[in-house]
Amino acid sequence: MEDELRVWFEAQGLMRYAVSADERGDITEMERAPMVALGPGDDDYYRAPSPVSSGYPGKPLPQMHLDDFNRFMFHWLEAAAHAGDARCANCGRQLSDEVDLPTNDRWDALFLEKELVGWMLVHFDCKRWLAKKLKGVEPFDLTPREAPLYDLSGAALTAAERETHA
Ligand SMILES: [Zn+2]
Repeated sequence: MEDELRVWFEAQGLMRYAVSADERGDITEMERAPMVALGPGDDDYYRAPSPVSSGYPGKPLPQMHLDDFNRFMFHWLEAAAHAGDARCANCGRQLSDEVDLPTNDRWDALFLEKELVGWMLVHFDCKRWLAKKLKGVEPFDLTPREAPLYDLSGAALTAAERETHA
């Protein structure tokens, strides 16, 4: 992961740490940065993408607040859906980025900030099952992969995304 991103997650309190000791007393420290799930399985978790390597034209990372990063993530998740890479975190059905979806195909992006920190996509109808689905999912049991790269340099930004916090 890029250092700049790690530093930013750290400052936002979004890094998770764990210490474990084996039988010989050797201590291992582990850390997990926020993740993004593009499907329902343990192997559908990716390391959170970077606005810098995505070419995101919004405000620079050091100036971002969490809602700015969430806006970036929304563009990224839309790009994932557009590429056909996004599936529901509960039921696993592929998600479409079309605008006029039938009610039972509509979905939402969620940000979780618990033991597991990350973003995922879920059908509106699947939301009520998600807590059960995620029960017992521990960030340190997951081995997130490198996130796919989507070019967001052409993303249409809202005024809030352009404005910088002076
Ligand atoms: Zn679903």
